[in-house]
Amino acid sequence: MVNNGNIPKSCDVVVMGGGPAGSHAATLLAQRGYEVVLFEKARFPRPMVGESLIPHFWKFMDHSGVTSKIEAADFLAKAGGITVWNGRIHQFSFSAFGYDRPALHVERDVFDDVLLRHAESEGATVFEEVSVKGVDFSDPKPIVSYHSMQDGTRGAGKIQCRYVIDASGNSSILAKQFKSRRLVEGHRTFLGMWGYFTGGKYIGVDGSSYGTESIGKVAPVTFISSHDDGWAWHIQLKDKISIGLIINTSNVKRMGKKEMEPYFLSTVRNIPYFKELLEDATYQEGSMAFRPDYSFYSTKPAGPNFGCIGDAGAFVDPIFSHGCQAAFYSASVCAWAAESAFRRPDRAENYGRLLQRRLQQHYGFSRSLALGDYGGDGVDPDLVIDLMKSMPLVELEMMLVASDISNRSTNFHEMAKQAGILEEDFADGIMSGKARVLDTLNV
Ligand SMILES: Cc1cc2nc3c(=O)[nH]c(=O)nc-3n(C[C@H](O)[C@H](O)[C@H](O)COP(=O)(O)OP(=O)(O)OC[C@H]3O[C@@H](n4cnc5c(N)ncnc54)[C@H](O)[C@@H]3O)c2cc1C
Repeated sequence: MVNNGNIPKSCDVVVMGGGPAGSHAATLLAQRGYEVVLFEKARFPRPMVGESLIPHFWKFMDHSGVTSKIEAADFLAKAGGITVWNGRIHQFSFSAFGYDRPALHVERDVFDDVLLRHAESEGATVFEEVSVKGVDFSDPKPIVSYHSMQDGTRGAGKIQCRYVIDASGNSSILAKQFKSRRLVEGHRTFLGMWGYFTGGKYIGVDGSSYGTESIGKVAPVTFISSHDDGWAWHIQLKDKISIGLIINTSNVKRMGKKEMEPYFLSTVRNIPYFKELLEDATYQEGSMAFRPDYSFYSTKPAGPNFGCIGDAGAFVDPIFSHGCQAAFYSASVCAWAAESAFRRPDRAENYGRLLQRRLQQHYGFSRSLALGDYGGDGVDPDLVIDLMKSMPLVELEMMLVASDISNRSTNFHEMAKQAGILEEDFADGIMSGKARVLDTLNV
């Protein structure tokens, strides 16, 4: 329900943005008894890209107490992944790693709405259709300026708080305000474009294709394929298919959205296997969207009275469905840092520095996964190696397998070695065949 009540003049925490990161942080802090005001510029449910979730996201759901609501939403369980990368086909299933809970393919409008409503039910005050304009940090208690588009509260206003959480996603309000937003070199030339289809076929964990009549009976995999100019995804949802392309921006440089749509359709329909899977599918007119420059990081993601979490702090590349996972992780550490600063204001600077290191550490990990390297661009390799030492082995092993099958893991292996993790430390290890090579797919 949209909150049309008066926006207060002060509170403990202002959260800017109601995506997975903002909702998770708002929930955790509201549960601790802090007054949390969350501003979301859209009215939920709103569309969002990023429908493939990896199984370790459940631990964050358990922590915030939203698990039963996610289960009730009845999203499609997925069994694993199949990649066609440079002509080699690999298949892996989550159960082979020992996961006993499924990964999901989620309609992000629904998923994000469940999380936002949960934050509200746990005590956060949520105002939708309120856009944050900036934050004044000249006072130790930051003043957040906003513009409300709601009837009843329409117009500009200000609210003072003790802590600000920037969870505005790609808008990255604070990174832009601080001029600390840096595009990731080596990845700045890429653009994500995606659209939706009904009908068509999907691939199951056995490498065979299935029609819509099998949805709910045969679990899909997230299907990824490299192509001449990047890579593409196929994500089966309950009643539509999400198809996306990561391509070199130069391909569409001078195109308007009208020209991009036919380009998108002809490109995806020409990728081997996608062609067959989409043969009988109907494109949902006008559903194509795109995002340039999604790969960036902030050189100043945290301070004594603020934290930039989820995509607002950094994002590299969606290839390993790591975005929502990173959003939940960074929200959790930010909630911890905010609460620690409230309890020990004399140590707020230290908690800000600690949060910054944690955020940079996780960004470095995502970067090493996505780009196959981890040096430069705001990444401290030693921090990343430390994270690898403390990660559950099952999570590390799965990410290692994922990066291996898309030929991005040379540095990953090197880091694991430096972290003292040997191949034999993994229960049965990638070498024992958790990522199987397939000759062909039966589509
Ligand atoms: C092409 C592509 C494919 C992806 N695929 C996957 C995937 O398969 N799996 C996965 O896990 N991740 C994927 N991701 C990443 C994933 O979408 C993000 O990591 C995730 O949504 C981050 O959550 P967030 O809460 O930080 O930001 P968001 O989900 O972007 O939420 C930010 C919110 O802030 C609001 N907002 C923005 N500006 C303001 C403002 N001024 N005032 C108030 N509110 C504001 C927005 O309306 C939005 O609701 C993908 C990303 C891209 C670009």
